[in-house]
Amino acid sequence: MSDTKEREISELIIKIDRTTCISTANCIKVAPDVFELDDERICSFVNHAFDTEKDIIIEACSVCPVNALYVLDKEGKQLVP
Ligand code: SF4
Repeated sequence: MSDTKEREISELIIKIDRTTCISTANCIKVAPDVFELDDERICSFVNHAFDTEKDIIIEACSVCPVNALYVLDKEGKQLVP
């Protein structure tokens, strides 16, 4: 069963593939204002995630060891992975 969360932050579309996440928290170390581990210790969006620099978001998604994080720009072009 797929479990995906999606949110638009700083003109980027970010998707978390929660079935793939292995809870390493790498993304959270880079962008704690955007990502957190939920009660099940799976990556989720911070409730009140606010605008964060695009470069930080892209880096946070790039450091995921299992490519559970996707970033697309407004035109739908995939930037990560
Ligand atoms: S870096 Fe990837 S595997 Fe680690 S918590 Fe974030 S989404 Fe999950």
